[in-house]
Amino acid sequence: MISVMTDGCGREIDYVRISVTDRCSLRCIYCMPEEGIRSVSHTEILSFDEIERLVSVFASLGITKIKLTGGEPLVRKDIAVPAGRLKRINGICQVTMTTNGIGLAKQMEALAGAGINGINLSLDTLNPEVFARITRRRAFDQVMEGFYAALQYPQIPLKINCVPMGIPERNVTELAVLAKKYPVHVRYIEMMPIGFGRQFQYCSEDTILENLVKCYGPWRTCDKKPGNGPGHYISFAGFQGKIGFISAISHKFCDSCNRVRLTSQGFLKTCLQYDTGADMRHLLRGGASDEEIRETVRTAIMQKPVSHQFTENVKEHEEAHTMSQIGG
Ligand code: SAM
Ligand code: SF4
Repeated sequence: MISVMTDGCGREIDYVRISVTDRCSLRCIYCMPEEGIRSVSHTEILSFDEIERLVSVFASLGITKIKLTGGEPLVRKDIAVPAGRLKRINGICQVTMTTNGIGLAKQMEALAGAGINGINLSLDTLNPEVFARITRRRAFDQVMEGFYAALQYPQIPLKINCVPMGIPERNVTELAVLAKKYPVHVRYIEMMPIGFGRQFQYCSEDTILENLVKCYGPWRTCDKKPGNGPGHYISFAGFQGKIGFISAISHKFCDSCNRVRLTSQGFLKTCLQYDTGADMRHLLRGGASDEEIRETVRTAIMQKPVSHQFTENVKEHEEAHTMSQIGG
């Protein structure tokens, strides 16, 4: 029997973003401090067996799509193996990953073999010097190796995610060239005021679009969008891929939110902005039955906040974690 799970506002929730680690190989200035965040011990992080059990329970409630994130998911050894196990869970249709690309060249073959359904590669610039300033690491070439490795698998959709920082001299429109030259979609994500992102001004979709038009000419709206997230897409003449925008601030999309998040320490987070949700690790390790876990998930999802209030400076229940801990 197919289950459907709705929240208190009637939104269907069918997607979970799972952070498999809060460690990372980069130190993006809007996401992590130079020294990294306090590393928690391995025992505090959910094991893959625990994640697999939770995903089975989620699937029985109506979750069909999983995104593996972090921190950097590729720092967890042999991530393709558990990714493949999640794919085989009854009811799970899609397992995708968001990665900074370090190590992707080595792991892409295994990920493809495990049946991964899509890769989102985070890349904010094509300039190696600017890359080093944003990520505090000289690793541009490794990321591009990952990009080219992923391109070898045309059956696995590849999207590039860029978070512009509102700094005019950082020319983010050059990234769109990847969608011109290759069959990949390039998406611009508005900076959200979470963790270190609070220190930056977001750069609006309208500003980016204005600059894109100067470089690439007129655009057309795409009726058919790739994926089922909150992005909307346009296309430019002569481009192989599309250009997408995920504009949580200037074009709020909470009405159609379909997702929740599971942090690496097992907290089921029901909205990006707030610390509301339920502690799954406590339940798992306390010997809870599947039915008890299901009931807790249903209750947490019924109480999912109606919307974020990023522009309204709300402090109550505001998320204190960094984006690397939450998973983006
Ligand atoms: N390390 C992986 C990566 O970079 O794709 C996965 C985790 S990362 C937290 C997931 C996504 O969140 C990345 O695309 C990153 O650019 C984005 N991100 C981080 N901080 C953000 C913020 N304050 N606002 C919007 N997106 C953010
Ligand atoms: Fe790491 Fe991704 Fe955060 Fe950059 S955005 S520091 S790659 S977790």
